[in-house]
Amino acid sequence: MFDWSVERERLAQALSDPVDLEHGSTRPAHDGALAVDARYRALVRNLPDCVVVVHDRDLRGVSIDGPIVDRVGFSRAQFVGSSLEDLLPADTVSRLEPAYRAALDGRAASIEFQYAPSGTFYSVEIVPLRESPDAPIEGVFTVARDISVRKRAEREEQQRTAQQSAVAALGVKALEGMPSELLAQDAVATVAETLGVDLCELLELTDDRESLRMRAGVGWEPGIAGTARAPFGSAFYPGFAWGSTGPVTVRDYESEDRFRPTRLLARHGGVATAAVTVGAKQRRYGILAAHSRSAREFRGHELDFLQGIANVLAEAIVREAAEDSMRHQALHDPLTGLPNRTLLVERLTHWLERADRSSNTAAVLFVDIDHFKVVNDALGHVRGDQLLQAVARRLRAALRPSDTVARVGGDEFVVLCENLESQDDALQLASRLSGALDDPFKVAEHVHRVTASVGIAVWAPGATAGDLMRDADAAMYRAKERGRARYELFHAGMRAWAESWFTIEEELRTALERGELSNVYQPIVDPADGSIAGFEALVRWNHPERGTVPPLDFIPIAEQNGLIVELGHGVLREACAEAASWPDPLRISVNLSPRQLSDPGLVDSVSAVLKVTGLAADRLSLEITESAFTDDPARALEVLGRLKEIGVRLELDDFGTGYSSLTYVRMFPIDALKIDRSFVQGVCQSPEDAAIVEAVISMGRALGVNVVAEGVESEDQSAALQNLGCRLAQGYLFSRPVPAAALAEMVARR
Ligand code: C2E
Ligand code: MG
Ligand code: MG
Repeated sequence: MFDWSVERERLAQALSDPVDLEHGSTRPAHDGALAVDARYRALVRNLPDCVVVVHDRDLRGVSIDGPIVDRVGFSRAQFVGSSLEDLLPADTVSRLEPAYRAALDGRAASIEFQYAPSGTFYSVEIVPLRESPDAPIEGVFTVARDISVRKRAEREEQQRTAQQSAVAALGVKALEGMPSELLAQDAVATVAETLGVDLCELLELTDDRESLRMRAGVGWEPGIAGTARAPFGSAFYPGFAWGSTGPVTVRDYESEDRFRPTRLLARHGGVATAAVTVGAKQRRYGILAAHSRSAREFRGHELDFLQGIANVLAEAIVREAAEDSMRHQALHDPLTGLPNRTLLVERLTHWLERADRSSNTAAVLFVDIDHFKVVNDALGHVRGDQLLQAVARRLRAALRPSDTVARVGGDEFVVLCENLESQDDALQLASRLSGALDDPFKVAEHVHRVTASVGIAVWAPGATAGDLMRDADAAMYRAKERGRARYELFHAGMRAWAESWFTIEEELRTALERGELSNVYQPIVDPADGSIAGFEALVRWNHPERGTVPPLDFIPIAEQNGLIVELGHGVLREACAEAASWPDPLRISVNLSPRQLSDPGLVDSVSAVLKVTGLAADRLSLEITESAFTDDPARALEVLGRLKEIGVRLELDDFGTGYSSLTYVRMFPIDALKIDRSFVQGVCQSPEDAAIVEAVISMGRALGVNVVAEGVESEDQSAALQNLGCRLAQGYLFSRPVPAAALAEMVARR
């Protein structure tokens, strides 16, 4: 390294012995300080990267020498006698001249500047030239040192720092969760600015994996970024880069023969390219490329920077995809892909936030598939799932895109319909949803009919998401209770009803465990003489706080949640055990709910009970209602046939209240009809009721089946029934249902 403070001393000595620089002779060309000698010349020629220059007081060249003298662009001969302006560009002169003037005034100066003709950076020391500090100034002595290497290193260091902080800044934005779309835009802008390129682009592989789409770009014509596609083949730079392990650079496409620019890049005048891949090899996402319109090298640190930006993007994209899928999973039902309860409530809450400003209303519809559990048991879970998926598709298709249908439970769906004009719209929607299920479903070669019970809650000012959900649920239960395959609009009166429903549902489970249920028995008599033909078992719930709960308050609930199977089995076992001790031919009638009829284990469990209790099969009558046939008549017929095979009698309960009574009477192997209480009670006052009772009795006679009149409360009714030919009756007139303890005495006096 050249140390001016040391060298100055030696120079001063050398300069004290004059020599002609040009000719190397000792003949003095100048006197005093301007004269230099051979030692001086040897010295300056050995200084590293220097030019040493001497000017006289008029700033005309005296001598120039040094190891890099040939780089200055003019010869020694040209230099001698020339002024600064003669040889140097104007901007160099204007930088140097003040320093020369200062030196002539006795002040040393040092400056750095870039010499335009060669681009070389010089560090220049300019000092007054005199023999001793007191001697007059004879000229100016200049040492110019080429510091380009250092300068370049410094500039590179600055660039590197700028590049690293650009990568870091982008990384921070990524960590802060900037969406990858914005991040990509930010990234290409950063690359263009930091590398000083004309064009930059992020290309992503399209879903068909056949081309690359420009996801973000800078420098391109308007409308290109976001839409343009590049071919995905190794003949062009994107495809080539895709297949490469490291960065790919092109100094000038003119002399590139591995691949070509795309037509788009050529049109934009791209001449040089640097491209890196975004994403690891196993999960490659795209290409990040920078292009300039003039030939240029891309240096190692520039490629590192480009790769750094690409890595930040890759990480952000991967993380965003993971977050998206996690969010999707958290908010959707995996089986049907529909939104789940969380997302539904989110959307409902969002609607409610704006509700007060809207002139429209919204409705929540609770859709529950009727008897789905039965279908599921019969089909098996895999096909049950397929059926649910098909149902989900139908419901979705029946709605507008702005409506939400969510799956909130096994067979429960909730529809949120925003911006309805009126309650009527909600009712229409409910009927449209039900209608969507009308066509039979085909699952694995089997055809299934599906109906749904729908509860509707329409928003009213002040209602919360929780209110709407609960109300729609209550209305849905009401629809179930009223026979299913229908819809009910919520009204305030349902709330208390629904609450008690849920309480009962909970309590019933423990009641079964604790044995709070027991049977009472009501005799079936000949109204003519009161002689007993048998008893009907009727279940009672001896609730620890509420006392005796009548079956109509809990049977529909047990029916709904499936507890009826267990409950019904208990009733049957207890009734058969009781009846086994009665003398022949006293019979026992036990009610069977539709849900029990679809239980695949029914026939076996009836046989088992008969076997365990020792009751003869023909002394057991099972009472079924017509609703047992509504869902799947073919299956009901099959089960009833098997029950007949084991010798059990079948009776049709509540006859006359259903729709197609006569059809069933003809189709099913019935042993008795029980005329519903509603007709019996009108038999004295209403000629229509009397006509129906008469018709049923004569039909029974024609078919050869017994007819039992239910709910006989007065002597008049009993007399009227006898006149119409009724031989069996049941009612408070003869006896209320009695507990088992009271039976023995009744049986004895039968
Ligand atoms: P159901 O099978 O038609 O039973 C006759 C109902 O009429 C019984 O009501 C009985 O107490 C009532 N009843 C009898 N005589 C008279 C009368 O003269 N006047 C009036 N007003 N009512 C009379 P209960 O015990 O409340 O049972 C109601 C319904 O609950 C039954 O109707 C049956 O459908 C169902 N149920 C009762 N026990 C069971 C059971 O163990 N399993 C199933 N699945 N259902 C049952
Ligand atoms: Mg009955
Ligand atoms: Mg009945």
